[in-house]
Amino acid sequence: MLKDLFISLSQNQFLNSAAKKYGLKMGAQSVVAGTNIEETIRSIKELNAHGISCTVDNLGEFVFKKEEATEAKEQILNVIEAIHENQVDAHISLKPTQLGLDIDYHFCLNNVREIVHRANNYGIFVNLDMEDYGHLNPSFDLLDELSREYDNVGTVIQAYFLRAEDDIQKYKNFRLRIVKGAYKESEEVAYQDKKAIDANMINLIEWHLLNGKFTSIATHDHNIINHVKEFVKRNDIPNDKFEFQMLYGFRKEMQLQLASEGYNFCTYVPFGKDWYGYFMRRLAERPQNLNLVAKQVFNKKTNTVIGVAAGAFILGRLTKKKSK
Ligand SMILES: Cc1cc2nc3c(=O)[nH]c(=O)nc-3n(C[C@H](O)[C@H](O)[C@H](O)COP(=O)(O)OP(=O)(O)OC[C@H]3O[C@@H](n4cnc5c(N)ncnc54)[C@H](O)[C@@H]3O)c2cc1C
Repeated sequence: MLKDLFISLSQNQFLNSAAKKYGLKMGAQSVVAGTNIEETIRSIKELNAHGISCTVDNLGEFVFKKEEATEAKEQILNVIEAIHENQVDAHISLKPTQLGLDIDYHFCLNNVREIVHRANNYGIFVNLDMEDYGHLNPSFDLLDELSREYDNVGTVIQAYFLRAEDDIQKYKNFRLRIVKGAYKESEEVAYQDKKAIDANMINLIEWHLLNGKFTSIATHDHNIINHVKEFVKRNDIPNDKFEFQMLYGFRKEMQLQLASEGYNFCTYVPFGKDWYGYFMRRLAERPQNLNLVAKQVFNKKTNTVIGVAAGAFILGRLTKKKSK
């Protein structure tokens, strides 16, 4: 129930625009690297100093106007320039909807192409993050078109989708990130049960490690991580064929530990003013992250506007009967 609640909060446009005006609040600063590029480069340098590479995500939700998509594209181009100028070990993650996928496919393709082209000039990889089921096919279409011109592009396979096995086979020659999947999906298209999702994730990881190009195993789940460690050892899979990925601010000690054990490790570094939807999805995955919120709400008086708005919404939903 809490998962549904936070997913619906993440889709609330009013709270999303309200949050943008107030900077990082409610504990979001623990999981979002900064609101601007300078702060983000500082965070990347700190992680690089521990042997951890980064993938940078310019946060953004609800992009329905061309000007907003163009602004997001410019910001991502600026990030690419900053990565190059500062010579940090980082690449780009982007969400096609932020670049206009909901406005016009070809407009979005041109935006993403410009980003991939600029990144390619500097040898920087670009990952197309995967969003909800409705965006899956057009996102793969983007990948198909871009990969005809560039090889510095890859994507994500979400293990909760029933079609994930077909997709991973089709895209085996790409650098792929394998995740469980973060959105609410129907049982017609996605496994609902955690055990089934975990089992599928393991199958997909093993298959891609044995048959694919480069595998990014993106999870905070120690059971899956331990399983992968065993699997690569048993099958003599070298460390340069895969990496572990986690989100910025999560399981920090485990991130450092894996890097110090000699595994390639990459931290997903989200930044920007549009942090609200991302933060709500993290709360949906792990309501214990509410600790972050509680600490902030009780420690600081300044969080009131967003805190009260979200709190009222949460309470309202909690007191209602469970909806379908
Ligand atoms: C780098 C990265 C990129 C991603 N990109 C995408 C994407 O493009 N599209 C998409 O749909 N989703 C993406 N996701 C989100 C992903 O789909 C999952 O929703 C998210 O990672 C939660 O699942 P999990 O695998 O981490 O494990 P969970 O199933 O959330 O957790 C499994 C177990 O791990 C332990 N655990 C988890 N978190 C913690 C913690 N913080 N502290 C202590 N123990 C913990 C707990 O025991 C928990 O029961 C991404 C995730 C990562 C890490």
